[in-house]
Amino acid sequence: SPSSTVVTRFAPSPTGYLHIGGARTALFNWLYAKGRGGKFLVRIEDTDRERSTEEAVKAIFDGLSWLELFGDEEPVFQFARADRHREVINELLATGHAYRDFLTADETTALRDQAKAEGRDFVSPWRDREPSVDDLAKPHTVRFRRPLDQAVAVEDAVQGTVRWESASLDDLVILRSDGAPTYNLAVVVDDHDMGVTHVIRGDDHLNNAARQSLIYDALGWTRPTFAHIPLIHGPDGAKLSKRHGAQAVHEYAAMGYLPEAMRNYLARLGWAHGDDELFSDEQALAWFDLAGVNKAPARLDFDKLAHVNAHW
Ligand code: GLU
Repeated sequence: SPSSTVVTRFAPSPTGYLHIGGARTALFNWLYAKGRGGKFLVRIEDTDRERSTEEAVKAIFDGLSWLELFGDEEPVFQFARADRHREVINELLATGHAYRDFLTADETTALRDQAKAEGRDFVSPWRDREPSVDDLAKPHTVRFRRPLDQAVAVEDAVQGTVRWESASLDDLVILRSDGAPTYNLAVVVDDHDMGVTHVIRGDDHLNNAARQSLIYDALGWTRPTFAHIPLIHGPDGAKLSKRHGAQAVHEYAAMGYLPEAMRNYLARLGWAHGDDELFSDEQALAWFDLAGVNKAPARLDFDKLAHVNAHW
């Protein structure tokens, strides 16, 4: 039935080329959806206007095309949806789940430092203050009113159940003083509107899953299933960096690697199907499951990659 259709997405920020980690995230999303008769979508998260570039957008699409990972619909550009994001922010304001904050960044920092010195949790001093008409003309941000004194739990398909005290999370800025909606709000609205059922992404976003879950709950929207996959490390176990070798997908393309070999190798980066090393797309689609994703960081092994490539 349509209600059970799996919908995944790859949502890169266009601030650089498509790297190995991003390619693997895209592949896992593609495998999970396509192996279940579902849809794989692409969303370009270009809300950071200073860091997003046209070249990066092109590099990401070039990398995905080379890997033959095509979205099932036209890509969504997040910045173009800012009006929709502001509409939802107004809804949160109207229902009391958000409030306007008139403090400057310096004033907030000073209050935060003061709370710390006094051994208190910092809430936000303005969170319950009704703004006057005069106030509204002044620059302000909009913050999400996190529920206090309660835990937030995320049932993550890879990490298991993860819990946070919501007091530890901060009242997130969801609208900047320049009128720009922020990442955590935009992601929730876009994933909801695009019908995303499974959010598969790097575990550097695990804390954001808690924040985003609270926003879903405040809006009365069903949370997606989250699956946070461990990052990729170099062969020595250290965080992947340039000294380990090629990191960008286009570098592999230029070295003569085949997209089939890359897909095969990337599929096994953090996920395994028994001891099987070489397999086809058909096998990967049939076998891939979130339950088989490792919790520990994967290690990039250039010799294995070359071995897989030699097979094709
Ligand atoms: N745009 C974010 C990034 O590139 C990913 C957001 C997400 O997958 O939810 O890190």
